[in-house]
Amino acid sequence: MPAKDVDILIHGGIVLTMDERRSVLEDGGVAIERGRIAEVGTSAQLRKRYRGREQFDARGMVVLPGLVNLHFHTDNFSRGVGEHLGLEAWLDTIYYPMLAAMSQDDARKAGLLAYTEVVKGGTTCVNDMYIKLPALADAAERVGIRAVLSSEGADLVPGQESLEDNERALLERNNSAGGRITFRFGVEWVPVCSAQYIRRCRELADKHGVGIHVHLNESQEEVRLCREKYGKPPVEFVHELGLLGPDVVAAHCVWLSDREIQIMRDTGTHISYNPVSNAKLGNGVARAVDYLKAGINVGLGTDDAPCNNNNDMFEVMKYASLFQKAVHTDASLLPSQQVLEMATRGGARALGLEKDIGSLEAGKKADVILVNMRVPSLTPLFTGRNFNAFAHLVFAAHGENVDTVIIDGQVVMKGRRMLTVDEQEVIDSATEAAERVIQART
Ligand SMILES: [Zn+2]
Repeated sequence: MPAKDVDILIHGGIVLTMDERRSVLEDGGVAIERGRIAEVGTSAQLRKRYRGREQFDARGMVVLPGLVNLHFHTDNFSRGVGEHLGLEAWLDTIYYPMLAAMSQDDARKAGLLAYTEVVKGGTTCVNDMYIKLPALADAAERVGIRAVLSSEGADLVPGQESLEDNERALLERNNSAGGRITFRFGVEWVPVCSAQYIRRCRELADKHGVGIHVHLNESQEEVRLCREKYGKPPVEFVHELGLLGPDVVAAHCVWLSDREIQIMRDTGTHISYNPVSNAKLGNGVARAVDYLKAGINVGLGTDDAPCNNNNDMFEVMKYASLFQKAVHTDASLLPSQQVLEMATRGGARALGLEKDIGSLEAGKKADVILVNMRVPSLTPLFTGRNFNAFAHLVFAAHGENVDTVIIDGQVVMKGRRMLTVDEQEVIDSATEAAERVIQART
């Protein structure tokens, strides 16, 4: 049979499919046609069956599903400003005033920078809660990333977006860019939201059949504020208002009581564990091992530039494991393959996208990354009995080791060069806008 033409043929790599059986192909590849994976197989098989219009020789590389950043904010204009303030003081003196000073065009420039940054680190899908969603949709469309957008919504502090802003953007742009850009409803922070706001958020999510992205129990101070204001901790409060469910991603959950863990499990709510942000803001270490033990689906997120200060999911994977090992004095906790599952399958499932992304399997959307292992820090790379690619990716690699990124079958970065945007122009225009916004904040 003659070889079939496909858009892209990757061969010669170590393929970590992250499928149900976590199959690994030590000399394998992926055939991609019209945005989807046509086949995953050995290099010999694929070369016989397909001729790629574009070919990737992945020798010395690991091929895996794109990473899913389950809790992200485009926010990057105040990166490195207002360090060490702690969460509440930072929100009041830097974050909220800055959001109020931003225009649509500023948000678009922030979005271009944010999505370029994360794509360069191997992230192909972001669950992004920020402001001015039409501008973010423009930026996501241009960069080529898969984005799930929601507002930093709240009704008790000035300058925040309303549920109506969120709904308007959803009506305009949900499922745009061939389904790559979708929407959810966002809850910024429970202490700045009324009970009415939380209830309305659930109503709107049900009405439009979309999910919810919410911050919950991030700091001890948040839990204290909620108890003082509403008589219960955040998870209990929003649960009684009907917010939680399998269509909800709850970010942080650093301070959950046993009762709240039960609520999360019983409602099927997903958790985004963001260890770097939680450590940097002095919020603590989430009880991730307990959540997993309870059967809760846990994904990973970076949070945002000022809280991290980068958006490198490889770094997040490493700390996700290290903090649990350290806190429990148990080196067996969160081994590398499990952590990579959280950053791929876990995130996809949390966003209700597991049929389309999160693993490399025929029929799924082609969100694929190639990581260059031919560098000193990832050497030696063993196959067979001493297979160490999972360990290298989680404990030794960085975003800079990602060589190529394909999203929805489009090559967005190749050989570390962005193909969809002019990286220097993105940096220059974001710098100019950030300078203006940071000066203008009142
Ligand atoms: Zn956040």
